[in-house]
Amino acid sequence: MMDTPLSISSIAEHVRKFHAGREIMSVTVDNPAHRYTWGDCIDRSKQLAKALAGLGLERGDRVATIAWNDYRHLEVYYGVSGGGYVCHTINPRLFPEQLIFIINHADDRWLFVDVMFMPLIEKLAEHIKGVEGIVVMTDEAHMPETALDNVHCYETLVGNETPDYDWPDLDENSAAALCYTSGTTGDPKGVLYSHRSSVLHAFASIAPDALNLSSSDTILPVVPLFHVNAWGIPYSAAMTGAKLVLPGPKMGDGETLYKLLEAEEASLALGVPTVWLALLQYCATAGVTLDKLDRTVIGGAAVPRSMIEEFRDKHDVVVIQGWGMTEMSPLGTANTLKAGLESLSPDEKLDLATKAGRGIYGCELRIVDDEGKELPWDGVAYGALQVRGPWICSDYFKLAGSAGSHTPDGWFDTGDVATIDENGYMAITDRTKDVIKSGGEWISSIELENTAVGHPAVAEAAVIGVAHPKWTERPLLIIVKAEGADISKEEMLEYFDGKVATWWIPNDVAFVDELPHTATGKIKKIELRKQFADYAFPE
Ligand code: AMP
Repeated sequence: MMDTPLSISSIAEHVRKFHAGREIMSVTVDNPAHRYTWGDCIDRSKQLAKALAGLGLERGDRVATIAWNDYRHLEVYYGVSGGGYVCHTINPRLFPEQLIFIINHADDRWLFVDVMFMPLIEKLAEHIKGVEGIVVMTDEAHMPETALDNVHCYETLVGNETPDYDWPDLDENSAAALCYTSGTTGDPKGVLYSHRSSVLHAFASIAPDALNLSSSDTILPVVPLFHVNAWGIPYSAAMTGAKLVLPGPKMGDGETLYKLLEAEEASLALGVPTVWLALLQYCATAGVTLDKLDRTVIGGAAVPRSMIEEFRDKHDVVVIQGWGMTEMSPLGTANTLKAGLESLSPDEKLDLATKAGRGIYGCELRIVDDEGKELPWDGVAYGALQVRGPWICSDYFKLAGSAGSHTPDGWFDTGDVATIDENGYMAITDRTKDVIKSGGEWISSIELENTAVGHPAVAEAAVIGVAHPKWTERPLLIIVKAEGADISKEEMLEYFDGKVATWWIPNDVAFVDELPHTATGKIKKIELRKQFADYAFPE
């Protein structure tokens, strides 16, 4: 068979030849409804690739982005990776120290930024001396005033070139993109994706039992382009020729999302649970339903049963839960119904949908005990979840094995604790460091949180282990009440009766106005543990 390289530019050429007229709609700071086509996008990516060479960039150099989801950011994906450089997407919500660390560690030579991030860049500038220039992703009319040197306008840079450009031939194992983990402990760690790994991941994720993508889909990725390449959507959407709707800076807002989903007739939307909470709350308050949306992929954190139920019963939307990590490109599992399970009752189907899903082809899974011995797939035994496959990182960028993240036999240790049932459905019970150890047994904080948010008076819940003189640790439930709702400690605890094992029921409930979140929308347990460091259970 031919050994043609699996490259990002081959995806660009495919979409340009077969789906050139398919639309990409974007909300940008300078235009609330920008429309053009995949053909335009790839032409402009080529113009950008030419311009990058003109800036003096060389093969393998890192070009960073700090930007929301819009068409210019998508062009940077293709122009940078296709041109032979590495597209390093940065999360603007990280702390300044983390941003400085990441930009310097990655040796980013140029930064492509949205206008609104210029004040941030101005503050960082003296600490990121390796950066040679900045491209502001807007037109001349919207260029900001700045005292920084070597600041260019994106539209001018791209507009000065023509699209007659041949993508370079690249080794499929060369680097295409770079993303750093959110770094809840220690410094953020870089994951370098190759052309080959990105293409294989896209192939796998479009399959019917994964995201089930086709040219008929209209996809709205609420997941940011800086969160593990928006779960690979820039590549998988192009591979299939799906229409893209890119929500720009207002993606956390329930009303904006609702209006976009309806107006653009999105068939699929993807995001972390927090954004869907906002959307569902908006729909409930405004008394509206999602009439166009067909399915939603939710991952990045456990998906509460009540959320899946609300999507199904109120909006007729199927939830596909996915699990993965920055280190895994990210997709490892997807939760779709397996043949033979059709006869499950609606309630049993809902229970199944709360699991993270089945491993997709290309991502091997195993769970092991403390001695590294493999555990059975019985849905009960839980252990450290390890993975292996062609889109799983073999090491972190520049760390040369020092992170201790891989086993001697070549599996990546995810840091998650999980069960896997007879049908191959994996369920995350916790992050290894969040597990609550009570009297020698483990309690799943995720299951308690998911149960708590099933109560209509609870908007968001987190459970942490707090030291206990007799049991070592016991669960403390921390909740944010839903707007206008009230619930007492006793009522909350009674709600767990019959839903979880009696000895799992939290010892106490704390009410807070809001929970701390990480830059990717996960509850920041480390911060919560600090906040409740002096907490002691009532006698
Ligand atoms: P990140 O690399 O920021 O995407 O974070 C990856 C981590 O998010 C995983 O290791 C899990 O702990 C968590 N995660 C992702 N998807 C799920 C899911 N469906 N259920 C529970 N946790 C999840």
